[in-house]
Amino acid sequence: MSSASETLQLAEHRLYASVFLQANATAEATWFQNPTCLCGCGEALVRHRNPEKQRLFKAGHDARLKSVAAGVLAGEVPEHAIPEIARMLRSRIGFLRTRPELSKAF
Ligand SMILES: [Zn+2]
Repeated sequence: MSSASETLQLAEHRLYASVFLQANATAEATWFQNPTCLCGCGEALVRHRNPEKQRLFKAGHDARLKSVAAGVLAGEVPEHAIPEIARMLRSRIGFLRTRPELSKAF
């Protein structure tokens, strides 16, 4: 049995989910217009026409984010030390493929 209010709740839930996804997509699109290093240092990156080939870090800075992630998992670093944009783009971060356990920090 499904009541009208349950149906409404489900519709609202779907709406919130799509708004959230859109907000993330917008933040990502903004980042690709003006990419900065994902380690959080704020340094600008050279923009690549092809988003697939866009660099995510200044040379060597992926190691910084990696050690921040390890610190978060060890409880030595607060979770918010991971930049929001790094969370959004985590599926593209190379070291999370080789060290999947670090993705728990994101
Ligand atoms: Zn950096």
